[in-house]
Amino acid sequence: MRRTALVFDGHNDVLLRMWEAGGRSAVAAFAKGDKGHIDLPRARKGGFGGGFFAIYVPSPGDDEDGFEDMAQPSYDLPLPEPVSQADALPVVLGQAAILIEMERQGQVKICRSTADLRACFKGGRMAAIMHMEGAEAIDPDFHALDVLHAAGLRSLGPVWSRPTIWGEGVPFRFPSDGDTGGGLTEAGKNLVRACNKRHIMVDLSHMTEAGFWDVAAISDAPLVATHSNAHALCASARNLTDKQLAAITESGGMVGLNFATAFLREDGQMKADVPLETMLRHLDHLMGILGEDGVGLGSDFDGAQVPEAIGDVAGLPVLITAMRDHQYGEALVEKLCHGNWLRVLDKTWE
Ligand code: ZN
Repeated sequence: MRRTALVFDGHNDVLLRMWEAGGRSAVAAFAKGDKGHIDLPRARKGGFGGGFFAIYVPSPGDDEDGFEDMAQPSYDLPLPEPVSQADALPVVLGQAAILIEMERQGQVKICRSTADLRACFKGGRMAAIMHMEGAEAIDPDFHALDVLHAAGLRSLGPVWSRPTIWGEGVPFRFPSDGDTGGGLTEAGKNLVRACNKRHIMVDLSHMTEAGFWDVAAISDAPLVATHSNAHALCASARNLTDKQLAAITESGGMVGLNFATAFLREDGQMKADVPLETMLRHLDHLMGILGEDGVGLGSDFDGAQVPEAIGDVAGLPVLITAMRDHQYGEALVEKLCHGNWLRVLDKTWE
């Protein structure tokens, strides 16, 4: 069997899974062998060197039922109710504390610089970027943003699907473009500037098209969507049009390929029987516009249903073998698996 490649990944929901499983007390299981898509033994097997660990505040009634609602020929899930800062902040602190406990137990290193990432890749410790998916816990004066930045926050998506004071995200809707609602509010524009100033990466995945173009007009950093796919191949509201991909290219940014089956399949359905060829078609399409330096991986492990051919993090070598069989050379495989994330973060965090 051929050697695998080191994967650094744009999105996982491990922290949410542990928070739902009891918080800090759930951390020890990660080292031994855990439920879900990622734990340390399977990560080692899959060549998973780390990634963006999302802090995410669930909506009431937010569970796997959504996957069933999305296993239909078309669907339009209602936007969940807004969550207040008072309700969001304790959840965010709880999930940040889980990541800190993981670091305390030697499972991960919370990376604050690309030097930290490179040291992890060399030394074999799992690299974690503290990321926030939806910024409900942040106040308009950015006190919480400063404190979380000091705790290691280096990446933030202003919105998930819910409406917020910053703007709103797209609903889980198929077929649909991303033009489903308003753009950034004035506060949302200030949030982008505040992130730029602190060298916190702004994540465009989940934003409406209007919000996307607002960020593109304001941000001085490369444009990044950590876990999104090509709308030309799967007409989900969560995916990016060729015009959006061109804007990301122009900014020197990148897109992480989302493994969620509903954002891969041409029929938009959350069903696990997705051939690896579908993932390669998205990679080819993304690279057709973004080039070889503008594409990476953004699995959504522990947050979505992934193709049964991959299954979990231990299945990553299957995808890498498929890339090689698809005539991607070794240099390109390395860029897709981790090199491009380093390039973009070098520019964003410098
Ligand atoms: Zn997401």
